[in-house]
Amino acid sequence: MPNRILKDSINESRDLTSCSFFAQDLFKRLITYADDYGRFNTDPQIMIARLYPRELSIVDISDLMDAIIELVGVGKIAFYTAKPRHEVFGCFPKWDEHQRIRDSKKKAPDPTDTTVNDWYYRRFIPIDMKAAIIERDGFKCQICGKHIAEAIDAKKLVKMCTGSFHFDHIVPCDQGGRVTYENIRLTCPKCNQSRKKSFDFDEILQFSIEGFNPQEIAASCGELPPNPIRNPIQSESNTNTNSADKPRRFVKPTVEEVTEYCTERGNKVNAQNFVDFYESKGWKVGGSPMKDWKAAIRTWEQRDKAKAPEEPKRRKIKRDDFGNIIETWE
Ligand SMILES: [Zn+2]
Repeated sequence: MPNRILKDSINESRDLTSCSFFAQDLFKRLITYADDYGRFNTDPQIMIARLYPRELSIVDISDLMDAIIELVGVGKIAFYTAKPRHEVFGCFPKWDEHQRIRDSKKKAPDPTDTTVNDWYYRRFIPIDMKAAIIERDGFKCQICGKHIAEAIDAKKLVKMCTGSFHFDHIVPCDQGGRVTYENIRLTCPKCNQSRKKSFDFDEILQFSIEGFNPQEIAASCGELPPNPIRNPIQSESNTNTNSADKPRRFVKPTVEEVTEYCTERGNKVNAQNFVDFYESKGWKVGGSPMKDWKAAIRTWEQRDKAKAPEEPKRRKIKRDDFGNIIETWE
């Protein structure tokens, strides 16, 4: 296994630092777990054994999956399937920007389909939304009433105490349930686990085999994840999360405003397509009037990002006698 590069800019990454500390730690561990092309095996048993060899009694698959969903949600990792067996693999979409690509043999095949990524992406709950839900639910499991924690700030709890609470989709994702303030509630791990099926990669795989189709989901439940990527609640008010319940008058944006916002965010969302799309839908998201067009743009942005695990470029490398890279060319 070659050494990996960890840049100091990792501590300033907005995407990564919006994740829990556990997910941030997982991201760093995954860098050493991936092959030279930034791809990795996603068998949860193997992942746990290799990523947490001395912490097997502490970290379970549910913790791992929650952290993976966080990392997929912010676009730091992505998933894909590969022919012929439709196996699921993970990858770092920006691997070649940060790591040296060695001329070694790939351990994971090239992607043939990336729709499996939607399985993870649809389950992503932004951190500020989690904190707001904890506060709304009074730090109590909404099934058994047990206190999760009392003497800690909700956001700090979300960041630091991963695993001590869960977020339950009242209508499960598989049945079209979405990540909305109304559809998520706080539970203790015990209640949530007894309610849902355990995470199962075979189940995820079914989506790709059966052709998990974003358009079908869109038809059955409105939109493919119209979920807020950042924080719909706090963005409406910096001081009081209760004001999230107050409806805010929506003003539809012009193409120019959308262009300006996309330029500001440096994404590749086509402003005209965006406006045309929602114009044709009467500015509705999942049957309800749109509340925040910027959140919708961020959803489009994340979707584009999640769907493009780029093929890392193969570089030729010249090394000195100590194995240090002295020259690379494509
Ligand atoms: Zn409970």
